[in-house]
Amino acid sequence: MEIITLPATTKGPPAMFVGDVWFDVVAPPQAEPSRMKVNIVRFAPGAHTAWHSHALGQTLHVTEGVGYVQSRGGELVKILPGQTIHTPPGEEHWHGAAPDHFMSHLAMWEGVADGTETTWGEHLTPDEYPSA
Ligand code: MN
Repeated sequence: MEIITLPATTKGPPAMFVGDVWFDVVAPPQAEPSRMKVNIVRFAPGAHTAWHSHALGQTLHVTEGVGYVQSRGGELVKILPGQTIHTPPGEEHWHGAAPDHFMSHLAMWEGVADGTETTWGEHLTPDEYPSA
């Protein structure tokens, strides 16, 4: 057994995130063949990811606030605490807070050895992010 010392909270870089987004690692990578990775991600109102996809998919579980998630070409979906959302491998999507609420979620995904588990694309256009 091990009580894990967790790394410091880090801020999401502006190349990938709009607004204030903070990460806390809650399950750091373990020795292979384990690939599990879990972060809690806190988005300030209006903050959100750029378009991106995960090589092995991603599961989100909303813990607080009001947010949105959308897959490329799909409908805009409001997300609330207690909901779990899965995006399949390679499916482009974004997630983030509503314009007028904080939103926090657990993000659960699997790492890949060469570090290419997440592919980042462009930021949302003003029309793509919902208005308050
Ligand atoms: Mn994602």
